[in-house]
Amino acid sequence: MSASETIHVDGVWRSAASGATREVLDPADASTLQVVSEGGAEDADAAVAAARRAFDDGAWPRTPVAERSALLRRVADLLQRDREEIALIESRDTGKTLEEGRVDVDDVTNAFRYFADVVMNESGGRVVDAGSPDVHSVVVHEPVGVCALITPWNYPLLQASWKIAPALAAGNTFVVKPSEVTPLSTVHLVKLLVEAGLPAGVANIVTGAGLPVGQRLAEHPDVDLFSFTGGLVSGTKAGAAAVSGAKKIALELGGKNPNVVFADACATDEGFDTAVDQALNAAFIHSGQVCSAGARLIIEESVRDRFVAELARRAEKIKLGRGTEDGVECGPLVSQQQLDKVEAYVASALAEGAQLRCGGARPESSDVRPATGYFYAPTVLDGCHREMKVVREETFGPILTVETFRTEDEAVALANDTEYGLAGAVFSADTARARRVAARLRHGTVWINDYHPYLPQAEWGGFGKSGIGRELGPTGLDEYRESKHIYENLRPEPVRWFAG
Ligand code: NAD
Repeated sequence: MSASETIHVDGVWRSAASGATREVLDPADASTLQVVSEGGAEDADAAVAAARRAFDDGAWPRTPVAERSALLRRVADLLQRDREEIALIESRDTGKTLEEGRVDVDDVTNAFRYFADVVMNESGGRVVDAGSPDVHSVVVHEPVGVCALITPWNYPLLQASWKIAPALAAGNTFVVKPSEVTPLSTVHLVKLLVEAGLPAGVANIVTGAGLPVGQRLAEHPDVDLFSFTGGLVSGTKAGAAAVSGAKKIALELGGKNPNVVFADACATDEGFDTAVDQALNAAFIHSGQVCSAGARLIIEESVRDRFVAELARRAEKIKLGRGTEDGVECGPLVSQQQLDKVEAYVASALAEGAQLRCGGARPESSDVRPATGYFYAPTVLDGCHREMKVVREETFGPILTVETFRTEDEAVALANDTEYGLAGAVFSADTARARRVAARLRHGTVWINDYHPYLPQAEWGGFGKSGIGRELGPTGLDEYRESKHIYENLRPEPVRWFAG
């Protein structure tokens, strides 16, 4: 295959039917990283047709669970074999640091291993007591069918794997459409699936834009399940198209995540240092381009001045640069569009009365080379409140807003005052308080005295407008399975409901 043949349909790598291509850019300097195929609706149709045939007539859905599990393990091994290569692809494509790229590859490997295990443990079916010795009643699991998987640009490989690993474990076939901004690592993953021995037509990829490719997959009558990770606006639009065809849908959307810090967490020097450090990590890792980023600091008023001053001091020292360079802590934003969006959010916040504590601009080009990259300085905005756009909407950039509270009830009210509900954290030295607050947070993941860790065995997803459904954990497998109840009468005899 040539480097630009990034569409894989029915076991063959090829170009777009139209011949169209797209330049994938390096966000650190806006140069061209690679030219990829720009698929269209006809490529989506061809991929769905291949996945349909592989599901209806192929061996994969009927392959014994142990063999499917073994294939997932081979993929995990191949991911580890190519760890450095994939981490480099991901770093150059998204701008994240090489170390973050490595962490992503390890997380993805763990996801494949987790679903290899869980499908073995949970494939046996469940015997149901039908209340009669003459009846054998069992609930079994079957694959849903053809899955359309749509992923965003911030964690391209990770988000694709949270869908692909359970989809394959359950015996489905799929078409994946990665973000047009960052398709490269998903292309590599599909190569590994092929190398691991997946039959032709089971794993298909169409590189291309949301419109038309993603939309076509959402609408396609031969798609049985539509799983989308991305923004609220495009996700609800695509989800509505999928639901109108009565497909099963899963939506993993955005977040506006609170990080609640009580004064008691800062009572000792160690506690203070930990809470500040975690707040930095929550807000600025991957330049804030994280769905669960702790973008809203909600801090007890009595410690606010000291906390925010230290936070701003440390945020200013974050080393920006090309993600592949040694010592760099934050890379660029992913695109010019994302940079424009972040600049507009900061401008609107300042116009609405927020106080700039640090950042608020593109860094000087003498600090960050090359100047053509999409860099933006970590920004702390003090004196924020919920009427501000920057507090209500997901900025998806290195912007941390600061709100204050005096009572526990106020802290909870502020933390829950969002249409989203993906994740949040509470920092407190008082265990009872921390657990009490955690129990009241309306978010799909809540951390106590920590921020960001997740486990493949624990469900991930959102309350409110953060989405529909869950990834990871046993539920993350169930999303890709139908339950079938088989009721077997061991002593058939007439029912005599009707007399005649
Ligand atoms: P996006 O919504 O712009 O794009 C996501 C994907 O959807 C892309 O592949 C895009 O091409 C496709 N798409 C766009 N319009 C479409 C349409 N009408 N029909 C079908 N597909 C369409 O999101 P993004 O900017 O790539 O990613 C950032 C967003 O993703 C943020 O909101 C972030 O919170 C969210 N996200 C959520 C999670 C989670 O786990 N909940 C994880 C990562 C990212």
